Amino acid sequence: MHVFRLKGNFETLDAYSPMLFDLGARGLEERPGEVWAYFLQRTELPLPGEWAELPDTDWLEAWRRDLKPVVAGPFVVVDPWHEWQGDEKRIVLEPGMAFGTGHHETTRMALETLAKRVEPDMRVLDLGTGSGILAISAAMLGAEAVGVDIDQAVIPLAEENAAVNGVNPQFLVGSLTDAAGPFDVVVANLYAELHAYLASQYREAFGICGTLILTGILAQREELVRQAVESNGFGLLEHRQEGEWLCLTYALK
Ligand code: SAM
Repeated sequence: MHVFRLKGNFETLDAYSPMLFDLGARGLEERPGEVWAYFLQRTELPLPGEWAELPDTDWLEAWRRDLKPVVAGPFVVVDPWHEWQGDEKRIVLEPGMAFGTGHHETTRMALETLAKRVEPDMRVLDLGTGSGILAISAAMLGAEAVGVDIDQAVIPLAEENAAVNGVNPQFLVGSLTDAAGPFDVVVANLYAELHAYLASQYREAFGICGTLILTGILAQREELVRQAVESNGFGLLEHRQEGEWLCLTYALK
């Protein structure tokens, strides 16, 4: 993992996030007076401002120190060294190289929404699986889960995370059309422009009915996603916002 830092605040992060995700960022974070962007590879950032790469020890230490168990619906996401006494279903994730530790608003909202919408034996697709967290949670809810990601580096990590949690989703390198449907639920934590681009393909992932859970959407880009998705036969079931992030849940009309 390579982490780059820029002096700035939430507005900086907001302004840069689409470009950073386009350049391959796996995660973005606001820290006091700074924003941090996480990349799998050392990356040129042809963006204004002075982006400095942090030494591994700095960000790894800060990251581990800050990680706390995260409760999301019936789940709690914990690191292997965390202790947790609650009744929540534990998802144990070694903080690693892939996005999806439960600490981001989008992952949390997706976990909570899955818990409400997934029933045993449903087929669930996690598009952009990263750490595998959403596919793992769907499998824990009794679903037959498939996780796909265009980044082949995350697949072994997702498989390892699933094994630690005693579930066995199928993980594949690829994107929406590489997973054999039909699915009852598709969950995708990507970004607004990509959801808009994929809108017509989402329809093809289902049979006659289904639930589409979309997150990774900055509130200011809501219209872009809604226009594309709703003109492809989906009706809005639930609209959630945490901070600047949205999670939109749809049913096929
Ligand atoms: N699902 C995890 C979560 O909710 O925390 C990780 C989400 S992370 C924001 C997005 C993931 O989507 C990354 O692992 C990235 O490689 C993957 N991705 C980006 N574009 C994709 C595409 N077109 N098809 C499949 N995966 C994609």
